[in-house]
Parts: sequence; C-alpha cells; structure tokens
Amino acid sequence: MRRNNGNMKDERYCGNTHKMEVNDLDNEKTSCQIDEIINAGHDKPFHSLLIAQIQGYDKCNWCIGDSKR
Ligand SMILES: [Zn+2]
Repeated sequence: MRRNNGNMKDERYCGNTHKMEVNDLDNEKTSCQIDEIINAGHDKPFHSLLIAQIQGYDKCNWCIGDSKR
C-alpha cells in the first residue's frame, strides 16, 4: 500500500535509510514493517528500484527478494 505520510508521497518504493533496504509498496508484506520505518523517520521515497540500487540500497527480501545480503 502506497503512503502519503512521512517523506512518502505515493511513490512505489520506500527506502529504509537505517537498514539501507528498499521496499516495493505494491507488493508489501507485514514483515516489511513500512509504518515502523516511516514512524522512525527512516523512509526515503523512490520512483525507481534501479535508482535506489544505484544509491546503495539492497532489495527487501520480503517484498522484492533476491537480497544480496
Ligand atoms: Zn519489503
């Protein structure tokens, strides 16, 4: 579910600046804990998964998979 709170403004991808992982909100799982990320102020919006990866974000194992860690 896309968000319109914290730093998020309906973008598909939500980066976690604390864990340096990016989540796909269109395939969000409970384990992603998106609301906890936003409440902690660790959310960083991305329109593109590729841009998040270029900036050093790993893919969340729950909603995207293929984590490199
Ligand atoms: Zn996730």
